[in-house]
Amino acid sequence: MLLDPFNRRLNYLRLSLTDRCNLRCLYCMPEGGVPKLAHEDILSYEEFLRLARLSVRLGIEKIRLTGGEPLARKGVIPFISELARIPGIKDISLTTNGVLLAEQAQVIWEAGIRRINISLDSLDPGRYARITRQDLFHQVWQGILAAEAVGFQPIKINVVALKGINEDEIPAFGRLSLEKPFHIRFIEFMPVGPETGCQAERYLPGDQILTRLQALGALEPLNGQGLDGPARRWKYSGARGEIGLISPISHHFCPSCNRLRLTADGKLRTCIFSDDETDLREALRQGATDAQLEDIIQQAIARKPKEHPHQSSPVPGRCRREMSKIGG
Ligand code: SAM
Repeated sequence: MLLDPFNRRLNYLRLSLTDRCNLRCLYCMPEGGVPKLAHEDILSYEEFLRLARLSVRLGIEKIRLTGGEPLARKGVIPFISELARIPGIKDISLTTNGVLLAEQAQVIWEAGIRRINISLDSLDPGRYARITRQDLFHQVWQGILAAEAVGFQPIKINVVALKGINEDEIPAFGRLSLEKPFHIRFIEFMPVGPETGCQAERYLPGDQILTRLQALGALEPLNGQGLDGPARRWKYSGARGEIGLISPISHHFCPSCNRLRLTADGKLRTCIFSDDETDLREALRQGATDAQLEDIIQQAIARKPKEHPHQSSPVPGRCRREMSKIGG
């Protein structure tokens, strides 16, 4: 079991498979993109698998694949199949922008993934294009429908609520949970990265998101709250889907944080907002044994911060890495 100094059990690892993305969401990546990692700086699938196996032996039970855009990395499907074969792994999930999902939904399922999060910040194609700087709404929507047809459950739709940009669509997303069996998860904007993280004026507190959702109808709290990750969850009466609210700033969940993150260039991060990174790639490539790698991971965990610096409002411009290089 992996325990940090505050007795938190760490059982969840997020792997950012690539820094490349086929969108340029204005809150995640600067318009011109960010300098790309050289191919040799990105962990190979074999390196990811070695670290994943070792992490599972240490106590990781859940792995989420993220990016950049994980489906944009070549060879991702055979990699997922290998990951799914690791003894002891209980759950593999994927966060994707959905651009390549229509063509890949079936093979992702066959590779072993059952739970999928799809990012969609607007239901209006024109606005979607302004937010993502790519005119791909219909392609993503086809991806969502393909995931539904294949049978992923749940399908979570991640919506970053942005003041002055998509806040007026909060009720429309609420209505979507009435019609479709989707879990709509509103996420507070996090001020991460030297450029995108400076837009603290985009931050919309979770309680304001909730007020707008309540205007649509009464929300029934759902059982399992607190057990199912950091989301507070509700459902409209008779809805096919549900609503989740992730408020890392206004209702931060640091005391129950169970996460570790591994970036595409092999840096282990123990807190999304902390630039304290541990270089596992160098250790791997210098021939570290499993025991040595485990020791390095344990040392990193011993430094996991008790809480992050945004304890009720966002502090702009934190973190050297843009979110696109952390993976959300
Ligand atoms: N490309 C994939 C996607 O779009 O889902 C995976 C990577 S993306 C960085 C993962 C998640 O982080 C997405 O749901 C995205 O909306 C969210 N995200 C990115 N920047 C964010 C920010 N500054 N605050 C809150 N969420 C953010």
